[in-house]
Amino acid sequence: MPRFCVPELFLDANATTPVLPEIAEAMQHVTTTTFGNASSPHLAGLIPKSILQETRVLASRLFHGHDGRFLFNSGATEGINTAVLSALTDARNSKAVHTNPCLLYGATEHKAVPEALKHWNSVLGLGAEIIAIPVDSEGQLNMAFLQQHLSNALLLCTMGANNETGVVHDLAAIASVRNTISPEVPWLVDSVQVLGKLSLNLAALGIDYATFSAHKLYGPKGAGCLYVRNGSAYTPLQVGGGQESGERGGTENIAGVAAFRCIFSWLLGLQPSPLNPLAVLQTYRQQLLAALQGVFPNLVLNQPATHCLPTTINFAVPDYSSGELIAMFDAAGIRVSAGSACSTGKPRSFVLDAMGVPVWQSEGAIRLSFGPAASAQFIAQVCERLHEMQKRLASMQHKRYLLPQQYHGGFAGAHTSNEACLPGIRLLVPAPTEHGVVVFVDEHNRQAAVISNEPLQSVYQAWVQQRFSQPEWQVNWLQYENFAAGDTIQSLGQWRCIATDIGFSIINQANQRRLSFTSGGVVLSARERSSVKLIGVGEAANNDVHFIDVRDPLEAAMQRLPTSASAPTYAPRVLWCEFALTYTKPENSTEKVVTVCRSGGRSITVAALASAAGGLTLYSCEGGVTHIIEHLAGSA
Ligand code: PLP
Repeated sequence: MPRFCVPELFLDANATTPVLPEIAEAMQHVTTTTFGNASSPHLAGLIPKSILQETRVLASRLFHGHDGRFLFNSGATEGINTAVLSALTDARNSKAVHTNPCLLYGATEHKAVPEALKHWNSVLGLGAEIIAIPVDSEGQLNMAFLQQHLSNALLLCTMGANNETGVVHDLAAIASVRNTISPEVPWLVDSVQVLGKLSLNLAALGIDYATFSAHKLYGPKGAGCLYVRNGSAYTPLQVGGGQESGERGGTENIAGVAAFRCIFSWLLGLQPSPLNPLAVLQTYRQQLLAALQGVFPNLVLNQPATHCLPTTINFAVPDYSSGELIAMFDAAGIRVSAGSACSTGKPRSFVLDAMGVPVWQSEGAIRLSFGPAASAQFIAQVCERLHEMQKRLASMQHKRYLLPQQYHGGFAGAHTSNEACLPGIRLLVPAPTEHGVVVFVDEHNRQAAVISNEPLQSVYQAWVQQRFSQPEWQVNWLQYENFAAGDTIQSLGQWRCIATDIGFSIINQANQRRLSFTSGGVVLSARERSSVKLIGVGEAANNDVHFIDVRDPLEAAMQRLPTSASAPTYAPRVLWCEFALTYTKPENSTEKVVTVCRSGGRSITVAALASAAGGLTLYSCEGGVTHIIEHLAGSA
């Protein structure tokens, strides 16, 4: 059975990459055949030991690391922590006196760097000031700032290339400032995104510590490598059986090291390599960008035109949040991210904020990244999928529900949930379970009442302003904290909003259903969530059910719900609460009413909202549209 209704196209290579068959084969060999422990004195230990030695030699050749040594570990996060621990332990034990000791790091470093600095600074009781070196609009470090603070620094941390934007840092310029001002300040370079994309000369730059991670270049997760310059301070993060000459205890991950051996051999040209040269990757980037611009002609790049990895495209589209765009790409089978995978859930990108890009670009950022082994065929497939997305967008009735009346008439053959609403009166809730903001809309009189707390988060303020931007709209902002519990804050049609001790409630006076909001939106209890009945994909696909499609318009356009007995009711997020407070089953209908989304998460929330409002007990489809389509494809 196909896993996806359309083949998955993975474009999140800066987060991780698949293990390529050559590497999988090398790893399988050392885990099943030459599986000995490198510390064993017998013959079975010799092969793994030789793999360790050979890989160290290759790393040294590749990165000009002859002034130091390479230690194998669990990944870049471990490498960063080891380097920080080493430099800070040395600083604590040193006799050198700094009046205002500081720890310097680039403002756009991966979170592992500032977090390790904070952690070890506190654990070692160093009390150094942790200072982010600002970056300019192109993402480059402010060299004057570096010059100013370097002489007080106990450690300098910078990166080779940024994981979110692909910005390539000028390591030669940083080395030159350091050599001129304070060559003794230890220097850590996070080289994770450099591997396989740029060359790196550790000796020429005088780098003390450099970190690498195998899973960013077709190796397994949990395999890393740390370069330490000879003479630079070193304190093991973990000790044990004396492995890695006592510098990193624990039985070596030989499979991971074998993966590195394969990667380094490719990069040194010792083995036929699947990795493309830079010029080819540049062409791929241009093709992808042109196809993306076809989908979104007003796309804005969040990265400079030069000094960028060709494998990373970071962009935003006016009026779209990154959540909406990711959902749309995901529904189309294209996996992209909003930024760093480690920052998932954060409302915006700290990297783009540091570069001073406008807030909407940071909130709406999408990172599309491919690996250096991408084939021309893969890129063509992605472009084809993007062209298909472009066509589907063009065929959508409305590109976006900008104004409330556009909800009427439905979407792609569906009808909306406004059966019980007075004409022209809408209840819009942009983030039902995340933020307590509700808008009563009177379309005839062009009036909107926004009920929220103060201060309203900028993202929701922008959301309201964008929807009611035309001059004829009169927008009334009401803060519920200004009302006593029990007071009516606003009434419109059947809707009434009253203040409560913890926030406010919206009541549908036509049927007495009610939803209570706090500043964090509707709080759904475990009981409300558990009251939702679940229905399997098989039953949802094959029986007469009435679907309530709770997906957003863009993703629904990319992945159509298979037709069911009756046309689905369409309830995008902004109408979830209105749906929960109004929906009634059509008379004489015997169908089960089933909420459905892309993969099953949001549909439970909507069914629970209906339960919280005192409405119908709904079913939620366990798998979502993706799985229904898969099920139908599998049983066809
Ligand atoms: N540094 C950068 C720039 C990264 O992109 C990552 C990966 O997310 C890391 C560090 C952490 O690497 P690892 O997953 O090997 O701990």
